[in-house]
Amino acid sequence: MHAAFPEVREIFFDIALAADESFSDGVVNSQYVRGPQFSADFSFDCCNKECVEGGHDITDEVADAIRHKRPTVSGERVCEGWQNEERVGSTRCHCLLRYTARIAYN
Ligand SMILES: [Zn+2]
Repeated sequence: MHAAFPEVREIFFDIALAADESFSDGVVNSQYVRGPQFSADFSFDCCNKECVEGGHDITDEVADAIRHKRPTVSGERVCEGWQNEERVGSTRCHCLLRYTARIAYN
């Protein structure tokens, strides 16, 4: 398997997941290192275990940063899944992801 971005040595992700935008409640912090044989797919699970069709895909943001050879990229996104099975079609999940990716190039 070839790395999707051969110029990248590794990517260090700092991830915070929270159900509320103050990031004071139920925050899950985690760190991931991807590389060198990482895939081109940068997705993280939503913090809501009952979430349907949710999750956080920051592939575009990270790929864009790599194209511009940026050393870091960070941002925040809202889960666009549904809150639970019963609320599919009515209530969005709205859990949050805050991320920083530090990219080491070859
Ligand atoms: Zn969700």
